[in-house]
Parts: sequence; structure tokens; C-alpha cells
Amino acid sequence: MAPAQSTIKSLHVAVIGAGAAGLVAARELRDENHSVVVFERDSKVGGLWVYTPESEVDPLSLDPNRTVVHSSVYDSLRTNLPRECMGYRDFPFVPQHDDESRDPRRYPTHKEVLAYLEDFAREFKLVEMVRFNTEVVLVEPDGLKWRVQSKNSDGISGDEIFDAVVVCNGHYTEPRVAHVPGIDSWPGKQIHSHNYRVPDPFKDQVVVVIGNFASGTDISRDIMAVAKEVHIASRSNSSETYKQLPGSDNLWLHSMIKSGNEDGSIVFENGKVVQADTIVHCTGYKYYFPFLNTNGYITVEDNCVGPLYKHVFPPALAPGLSFVGVPWMTLLFFMFELQSKWVAAVLSGRIKLPSEDKMMEDVTADYAIRDTHGLPKRYTHRLGAGNVQYLNWIAEQVGAPPGEQWRFQELDGGYVRLATRPDTFRDKWDDDHLIVEAYEDFLRQKLITSLPSELLESGN
Ligand code: FAD
Repeated sequence: MAPAQSTIKSLHVAVIGAGAAGLVAARELRDENHSVVVFERDSKVGGLWVYTPESEVDPLSLDPNRTVVHSSVYDSLRTNLPRECMGYRDFPFVPQHDDESRDPRRYPTHKEVLAYLEDFAREFKLVEMVRFNTEVVLVEPDGLKWRVQSKNSDGISGDEIFDAVVVCNGHYTEPRVAHVPGIDSWPGKQIHSHNYRVPDPFKDQVVVVIGNFASGTDISRDIMAVAKEVHIASRSNSSETYKQLPGSDNLWLHSMIKSGNEDGSIVFENGKVVQADTIVHCTGYKYYFPFLNTNGYITVEDNCVGPLYKHVFPPALAPGLSFVGVPWMTLLFFMFELQSKWVAAVLSGRIKLPSEDKMMEDVTADYAIRDTHGLPKRYTHRLGAGNVQYLNWIAEQVGAPPGEQWRFQELDGGYVRLATRPDTFRDKWDDDHLIVEAYEDFLRQKLITSLPSELLESGN
């Protein structure tokens, strides 16, 4: 039963970050009558999609005192999912054919994603809620409320009390670096993909790229155009793996690295040896909340943030503290929107959370399932096969329709194409019928005014 009108609360809420998650969180919170302040340390909205040619001075980003560059986007980056399934549900990511500066392709460049997020912020008047150039440096409980300390680019500090804090700080900024035996004596250079922008510095080099998922495949192809040789090492390959990749004469796939040596050689588990100039670590990122002080209640262990009920609410601190955007391998923007609706409605009291004990039981049960499947902790927030169930569960909580079939099918098919056809998946596909379904759906919901004459620049 819906709670009586008098029990609906309007709270003062801080949102940390104005990326794709923070923007939609701000909108949903405001639509639920909360007053919202979004803290954003950058000077514009868009988060990860705000490309900068600058990278961090420390190429592996190991120094905790370094000046952090937020974005991990490289110059050549195009999306790794089709745009129809990538957008927010009620603001589809469709081509803007009337604006020549925009990229109409199905897998557009990073600039197009940023333009889309800027459109979203403009359309829903979100910018006025954002305090730019303001970094949150501390979030901690203060009685039943939350203290938020911040620092802006003029050096002015803020110390404020909020009823609730929604953490949307992203998790693609703090690199995870592969351990390579002997690396300390290996004389070459190392860089993490977080600090990779363009291939030019790798001209004529022998480069080893560790990691063969989205960034690893992209960056190895980017670099091979200028490098002498590129060797991809991946722990998901068997120890015998050694093959030259089709369509190239200087790109090889290997098993993982066995060792780096003083003489500059890199030895792979398959026995091959190369004299390498640089190692590029495309080995992912860590969840990192340097501003959060919960007296040790929330921990990050092997990239598992916990405890979090349904990846959003820490049971003992809910609903005052919540996280939007923790899961991965999913429809991110769509998930941000659903999680945000849930947080906003829980804060207003329109939706009730289970008791702390029940939430903890749920978290523990999730961990047990993960352990039964033999998955490491770092896969706790990888939705993978549980994706549809998770998103539809939240949709049900907030009274939204379940996710569209075409959206889930585009995600699944998109990941298969990415893994199996890394060189061509952005320009060739075989699911035009899903594009048609998506656009018909947008039209039915009056989110677009007509079907595009040529649906998208076809990839057939
Ligand atoms: P972010 O976009 O990272 O935003 C977080 C914001 O918080 C930033 O603006 C940051 O400045 C701010 N912030 C952080 N700390 C503080 C602080 N202490 N105080 C104030 N502000 C703070 N997803 C897709 O759906 N499709 C893709 O094709 C795709 N490609 C990707 C390619 C790469 C190389 C990477 C790394 C990720 C990709 N992703 C992709 C995932 C991408 O991260 C999400 O799409 C999405 O942009 C994440 O949004 P977010 O708001 O959670 O985080």
C-alpha cells in the first residue's frame, strides 16, 4: 500500500559527480521533490566522456598524491555498444542529423556521447543543480545526517550537512595494474590505458598490451598502425596461445606474461620471447572512494564494494548513503536511471527498504552464490547473466515497465560481436531487426517524431 501523503519526505541530498550516473540521479531526485546539490570536480558535465589530451604525469597512476585526470577516454574511442541500447530510457541516444558536427553512426565517437549527455543536462535543466570545480573531500555520518566537505578550485572549503548522499563518482579512473614477475628489473616503460590517448608515442616500438577486452583490443589496433610489433598478453588465453591476428602483419596474441627481465625481454607463458619497449596495461580499474569515511563499515576488497544491498544501499547506513553505478557489464545508463528512481523514492519514503538484517541476508546470499560458482570477489558487481533479472527487479520496485527485449538482445549480441569480431563490430552487424524494433518503440512512446528514413548508416 502506498504510504500516506504526509509521510512523503523531501530531503536535502548531495550527489557526488555529474557524469552519466550523477546527472540522471539529480533529475530523479529533483522529480521526487528533493532539493539537490551535485558536486562536480570538473568544469563541465559528462564525467568519463569529457575527453582531454592530458594524462597523468605518473603513467601507471600509482602515486596516491598525483594530480588525478578523471577521463580514461582515448582519442580514437567509439562506443562499444550500439547507441539505441546505450541511452537513458526516456531520452534515446538517437542521431541528430540536422547538426553536422554530430556523429550519426550506430557506434559513435566519444564526442557524440558527451554531446548526448550535454543535451540531456540541457533538456532537463540539470546544470543549475551542479557546483562545478568542486571536489568532495569527505563524506561521513553526522548523527542521522551526512557531513559533506568539499574544496573548490579557488581553494574555498565547504562543510555542509545533508540528509542523504548519493555517490556517483564513477569507477574508471583508478587503474588496476597487472603483476608481472621480474618487472622491477625490466628496463622498459609502462603505462596504464587510463593514461593512453594517441598511438604516436609508440611509433616503431615493440609494445606488449596486457588485456584483451574492450580497451585492450582497441588500443592494440590503434598502436599497431604505427608500432613495429604489438603483442597482446591475456590471462584468458591458454598457456600455449600464440597466433598472428588476421588482417595484420604485426599483431600477435599470446598467453599471459611469465616474466620481465633485466635484458629488456618479456617472456610469455607460451615460451615466446620479445624485446619490448613498452607495456600497456589494459587491465581495468578499481572502485575508489577516497572521500568516504564510514568507520570501516564500507570496504573495497578485491574490487568488491560491500556490503551493498542490490549494489546500491549499504544496509546499516541506508537510505542516507547510496551508490548509483556500481555494477558493470550491463546497460549502464538504463541502470543508472532505474537505480536513481529507486534511491529517490526510498528517500522520500514512497518505497520501503527491507530491514537492515534482511538486506544483510540478501548480500550474504549473493556472496554465497558468487562463491558457489567459484567466482573471485572482483566479479561481485559484474552482472553478466544476472543482468535482465537485476534490472527488471529494480524496475518492478519503482513501478517501471521491465526492460525492452530489443535492449537486452542488443546488449548480449553487442558483447558477442565485440568479443568475436573486435576489428569490425562497430561497422558491421546482423541485427538490423533490433534497430527497427528500438526505433518503433521510441516512436510509440513519442520519444521521436518519425522513423528515420535510413534507419542508421547500415552496417550490413
Ligand atoms: P563518470 O562518467 O566517471 O562520472 C563520475 C563523475 O564524478 C566525474 O565527472 C568526476 O569528475 C566526478 N567526481 C569523481 N570524484 C569526485 C569528487 N570527489 N568530487 C566531485 N566530483 C567527483 N559505457 C557504455 O555504456 N558504452 C560504452 O561504449 C562505454 N565505453 C567505455 C570506454 C572506456 C574506455 C571506459 C573506461 C568506460 C566505458 N563505458 C562505456 C563505461 C562508462 O564508464 C559509463 O558509460 C559511464 O560514463 C559512467 O558514468 P558515471 O557517472 O558512473 O561515471
